[in-house]
Amino acid sequence: MTTEIRNLRTPNNKSTDTSLKPTIEKDPKEKATDIGQYLLCRQCLKIISSPAERIEVQGAHVHTFANPQGIVYEIGCFKNAAGCGYTGIPTDEYTWFRGFRWRVALCGLCLTHLGWLFMSTARLSFNGLILNRLVESKKQV
Ligand SMILES: [Zn+2]
Repeated sequence: MTTEIRNLRTPNNKSTDTSLKPTIEKDPKEKATDIGQYLLCRQCLKIISSPAERIEVQGAHVHTFANPQGIVYEIGCFKNAAGCGYTGIPTDEYTWFRGFRWRVALCGLCLTHLGWLFMSTARLSFNGLILNRLVESKKQV
């Protein structure tokens, strides 16, 4: 389960800053190596997002949460996820990020549940994507 995500950066910023910071701007060299890479739906290989869309939310890119049923999800925060579709009415019920409402994010092709779209009243939004439901790829599709 962890092999596919071992290349993802782990959070090292412990600040409580709640702004949405692109992690990529910190290291221009790393940005170059990300060019051409994509994050694909593990189920159907549709392009969902890319490593360049990774952001930190509340001080970290990766967050681990359990839902009310006790299922644990490891999610990464992404500014944009063009391959996702969204369903459901925005709600703040059981939200994992204070001040953010959420909708369910699905693969736009095979409708696999990939995570959640989080939206704040300040119109900030980001995608929290379940990392083990994505695969990294350099291929152009
Ligand atoms: Zn899919």
